[in-house]
Amino acid sequence: MFLEVREIEKSYGTGESHTKVLRGVSTTLERGKMCIILGPSGSGKSTLLNAIGGLDRVDKGSIVVDGLDIAKLEQKELVLYRKNYLGFIFQFYHLVPNLTVKENIQVCEYLTSSPLDLYELQDALGLTEHQNKFPFQLSGGQQQRCAIARALVKNPRLLLCDEPTGALDYTMSKEILVLLEKVNQDYGTTVLIVSHNIAIKDMVHKVIEIKDGKIEKDYRNETIIPAG
Ligand code: ADP
Ligand code: ADP
Repeated sequence: MFLEVREIEKSYGTGESHTKVLRGVSTTLERGKMCIILGPSGSGKSTLLNAIGGLDRVDKGSIVVDGLDIAKLEQKELVLYRKNYLGFIFQFYHLVPNLTVKENIQVCEYLTSSPLDLYELQDALGLTEHQNKFPFQLSGGQQQRCAIARALVKNPRLLLCDEPTGALDYTMSKEILVLLEKVNQDYGTTVLIVSHNIAIKDMVHKVIEIKDGKIEKDYRNETIIPAG
């Protein structure tokens, strides 16, 4: 199994402010699949994604990504795990404002020993005509496309997306989802998306529904409706 999450628990705070955010979460994901974690605000979705992304430690349980037990990694090894295994996409793009589209992608290209071809990627994501523009000259959807290219140029095994369409209107959300689907198909990247956009359900291989830090439903989607 590509991803195995076993009985993870996570709390924040101490004493009266102590909150248990993940209460024994277990799930799995096969390589090359696309999955969504759905659930109401505050249910623990980002906490789960951040734990899988090695951005945050869990209190109990294990997370194995492509054979690597990340709960056991030292801080230094976690940095390498994030660098070598993962791509991240966030709601608000987090592009470097004073770099162009191409330069934003290049920063990650240079950090990698075997990057994907920058120009091919810009082409696949419809960025070629925008490559010399700065983020402020782009629409939200275009900025997110740039963020996807930047995450992908490292050729990550796992692409983690936290509310990737959260700041976009319906049309642009759809465009981004179609692109994530294309990335999943063309590059074989395993994609994990956190969202409360239930429309995504029909486009992914697997749905995990989380509520109050527990998994409520965890099922495969047998009838994927191709987007676009
Ligand atoms: P979701 O992504 O489903 O909206 P989160 O995982 O962001 O939920 O948060 C789950 C709960 O954990 C929320 O009550 C949130 O306030 C709390 N929480 C998240 N991160 C922290 C943190 N760093 N410190 C304290 N509480 C946190
Ligand atoms: P999302 O919009 O993805 O649900 P949030 O806006 O709730 O995420 O949280 C964004 C970031 O802030 C997360 O990385 C989370 O860990 C942190 N965070 C969330 N709630 C709290 C909190 N109560 N105290 C400290 N940090 C928090």
